[in-house]
Amino acid sequence: MMRALIIGRFQPFHLGHLKIIEDLAKRHDYIIIGIGSAQESHTVENPFTAGERHLMIANSLESRNINNFYLVPIEDIYRNALWVAHVESIAPPFNVVYSANPLVKRLFMEKGYKVIMPELYRRDIYSGKEIRRRMIYDENWQELVTKEVIKVIDEIDGINRIKEIAKNDEYSTDQPKK
Ligand code: ATP
Ligand code: MG
Repeated sequence: MMRALIIGRFQPFHLGHLKIIEDLAKRHDYIIIGIGSAQESHTVENPFTAGERHLMIANSLESRNINNFYLVPIEDIYRNALWVAHVESIAPPFNVVYSANPLVKRLFMEKGYKVIMPELYRRDIYSGKEIRRRMIYDENWQELVTKEVIKVIDEIDGINRIKEIAKNDEYSTDQPKK
């Protein structure tokens, strides 16, 4: 049984995530999607709860008839040396890890896992940071996510949430910041 693990914060889930996950789901029996920094929400960097991110991902994949996935919330433990064991204690067993993050790659490699760094698709626009910036500045963020993600964000009043949180933050300056 080949199970692949991919971990992200998915703040929010976007078309770059969708592309890699669609591809991995075809090439493995199951794909385990770890929702990282699961304890975080209601900040500019991490506006959405783990449950909201779960909905965004599950609704997007199911509507594309992708059903061979498990979603696992993973809270931060602030102890890199123990982090892989933490993930192993929560996720179903996996054989291979996909991550573009050098620290994640290093930590799993040290524990003997095969780690593959996937190619990033249109990273200039398909990036959580760029999408959150567009949300705050009323730019077109919708074109970078699925319609299922738009629906979840509407349902939870997500745009007003991130804008209000950003008011007392660095984003309140006139100058758009990337
Ligand atoms: P942020 O800007 O908030 O860090 P992000 O777009 O980098 O958001 P993450 O949740 O940090 O999203 O990404 C998790 C994983 O998703 C990455 O390690 C990478 O493997 C994959 N990924 C992210 N963006 C893309 C993309 N454009 N194309 C393919 N894979 C991507
Ligand atoms: Mg990232």
